[in-house]
Amino acid sequence: MDATDLLFSVRDTSDETEFYTPVPEGYTTGRVKYVVVMGTVMSGLGKGIFSSSLARLLQGKGLRVAPIKLEGYLNVDSGTLNPFRHGEVFVLDDGMECDMDLGTYERLLDQDLTRDNFTTSGQIYSAVLERERRGEYLGRDVQMIPHVTAEVKNRLRTLAVKSRADVVFVEIGGTVGDFENGYYIEAMRQLAYEEGQQNVLFVALTFILEPPTLGEQKSKAAQLGIKQALQMGIQPHIIACRAQREVTDKVREKISVYTNVPKARVFSMHDCESIYLIPSRMREAQLDQQVMHLLNLTDRANPGVERRDWAAWQRFVDRILAPKHEVTVGITGKYTSVRDSYASLLMALEHSGGALETKVHSKWIDTTNITDENVAEALADCDAIIVPGGFGSRGAEGKISCIRYARENKMPYLGLCYGFQMAVIEFARNVCGLKDANTTEVAHDCRDAVIDILPEQKKIEGLGGNMRLGGRDIEVKPGTLAAKLLGGAKTVRLRFRHRYEVDPKYLECLESKGLVFSGKAPDQPIMQILELPDHPFFVGLQAHPELTSRPLRPSPFFVGLVQAALARRESKTK
Ligand code: GLN
Repeated sequence: MDATDLLFSVRDTSDETEFYTPVPEGYTTGRVKYVVVMGTVMSGLGKGIFSSSLARLLQGKGLRVAPIKLEGYLNVDSGTLNPFRHGEVFVLDDGMECDMDLGTYERLLDQDLTRDNFTTSGQIYSAVLERERRGEYLGRDVQMIPHVTAEVKNRLRTLAVKSRADVVFVEIGGTVGDFENGYYIEAMRQLAYEEGQQNVLFVALTFILEPPTLGEQKSKAAQLGIKQALQMGIQPHIIACRAQREVTDKVREKISVYTNVPKARVFSMHDCESIYLIPSRMREAQLDQQVMHLLNLTDRANPGVERRDWAAWQRFVDRILAPKHEVTVGITGKYTSVRDSYASLLMALEHSGGALETKVHSKWIDTTNITDENVAEALADCDAIIVPGGFGSRGAEGKISCIRYARENKMPYLGLCYGFQMAVIEFARNVCGLKDANTTEVAHDCRDAVIDILPEQKKIEGLGGNMRLGGRDIEVKPGTLAAKLLGGAKTVRLRFRHRYEVDPKYLECLESKGLVFSGKAPDQPIMQILELPDHPFFVGLQAHPELTSRPLRPSPFFVGLVQAALARRESKTK
């Protein structure tokens, strides 16, 4: 049976057959290749980092790549998820609230993604149930196999058609063996069968334990994890071993023996200083070449493109590895113990550090106990401060104290979303004299609600769907610091995720005392960037510039902050 016969048979949806695989229009089997990345042993191993680094290498060879993340949970999007449990909620330009891994893909691929790149079980089941209600299953009983799995495959193939990708990278959330992800793995088994030889490649990420009491690396958990994938009909082509230290030859051999994967394709993905070193490590291990070979893609590579691409990337990595300066940026936050909840922010700092050959240290500041009296002590070793996005009242007063300190002591300040709103409150209270200024998010009945719920959002009820979300244009006021940072651009597009905004009735008061709103929405009185002209760097954005910062195109707002922090540090040491 050749590929065409196979496609014919899987397309057959008559009631005489058990096959059910609708294929989107314009789809040609064998043109697009798939790399499927799944995890074993435990979650949180960095499947997204592995997948996006490999995708980055293939993209660098001139191939078109499109990632998709398949989440097991029933939520339709990540909007209502607590970042403390799941890492930050990443927002795409089209307003999709999704898993933080999408941020990793966007950064490594320098590519804007859409809702087509993110699927949850909630979306899959909803689509199947809606189809069932429309009678599209033609009287059949609707089953996990073949109907739900068909929906999964259809999404991948639709992405392939829409993106015209050479390679679709599929990342499956959770781990092999999780009850909720089982049907995704089964769908991938079917996909490999239907697409045929050299068209689907499986990567199993696993974890090598090194118990301190034993002092050596142990591979049993990894072996058992991979065995589980084999039991589900998936033979991995590549095994990536996460470990604290480089995985020894002996352990790689052991894994190879137990899994039918050649040792050259058992890759040690041990801890390193920056995730941006992973592509280089993979390249050294020739993983990219192996993938090109296994998927029969070698003819599609463009060596000229690859040389130029790699040189630029290498320069960025070299600058991260050998910084000439260092600064410390204080970050206030509610989720102080979980770095994942601020992943994009930390990445944006790393990107600007790369541009300025500076190691940016971050100092987490829990603001719940900070007051005007002890703030100087808390910020003593910081060269700059960021108040990032947040929700609710916890630590709000402490954040305001930090902002006041930064404003009065000319410490570089960057406020992101909530940090923008807090800066307005601080200014209203301490400069405009509106002592009871606040946001209605914190104090519903305050006298001066300088930050209030957006009129457009007031109409929408319920917590799930009332945020102003996604990419919006900002009109930038000429001659301001924002305009300078943006190289004179008149508009900039950034991403938003907020429910509250500056109440325009306070604009006159705030502006008359010196606060400058240097960015506004083009068609509504929504303030989006603020700054203080008599301060070295005091900038707030209602938007989230950290979401669109990229390794080789760092956010100018972060670059500006780090530059100002460097200047402050240098002036102190002179
Ligand atoms: N809580 C604020 C709002 O809803 C800020 C949101 C944020 O920081 N992302 O407007």
